[in-house]
Amino acid sequence: MELPREAILQRDGKTYAFIARLPAAGLLTPQILRRLADVAEKYAIPAIKLSSAQRVVLAGVKPEDIPAIQQDLGAGLAPALGPCVHYVKACPGTTLCRLGQQDSLALAARLDEMFIGKLDLPHKFKFGISGCPMNCSESYTLDFGAFGKARGWTVVVGGKGGARPRLGQVLADNVSSDEVVDLAGRVIAAYRALGSGRERLARTIERVGWEQFRAAVLEPGQVSSS
Ligand code: SF4
Repeated sequence: MELPREAILQRDGKTYAFIARLPAAGLLTPQILRRLADVAEKYAIPAIKLSSAQRVVLAGVKPEDIPAIQQDLGAGLAPALGPCVHYVKACPGTTLCRLGQQDSLALAARLDEMFIGKLDLPHKFKFGISGCPMNCSESYTLDFGAFGKARGWTVVVGGKGGARPRLGQVLADNVSSDEVVDLAGRVIAAYRALGSGRERLARTIERVGWEQFRAAVLEPGQVSSS
């Protein structure tokens, strides 16, 4: 049986985990929670886990149940493996948080719609959108981050966690939501052009140099990928 590429083999070597495709930025409703609970009970899924990226992981799933679970979930599975945009994490921003200075949920929804799972990249790619400089969505430690200030967004690029963590660098300041979306497309295009092998964006920037990468984003016609 061919399994969807989103299925992740678990430690027991027999069962799988996957991430339910849900609305952007971890915004849930009673209906979504009910559907997840119904699926978990119907297929006797032993573990439901919230991931660090605000996603819902269903773990311990029997492989033969996966097609029916996909059908029952409706929206399908979210990318969890492979070289593409995995997720857009966002804080509550001006929608809910008293400290919010920009609408992180609205921006995250736009980025989610445009980029999730759709691009063939050198490696995985993650977004973190925060409504103010407190950076609750860890914008500095994801591939593409933005945090809100009174006059717009600050965009930071090239962060990562993992065994060799790196803080992102500021690409733009006081830009609009439209400009953030445009910069996201440009950063991804530059990563595709300059990334080598299975290299995370942070390592690409270190290898080619920040000024070269920045120029590739802002003046793509002027920079060679060789
Ligand atoms: S980053 Fe700012 S707006 Fe977002 S949750 Fe944290 S304090 Fe609130």
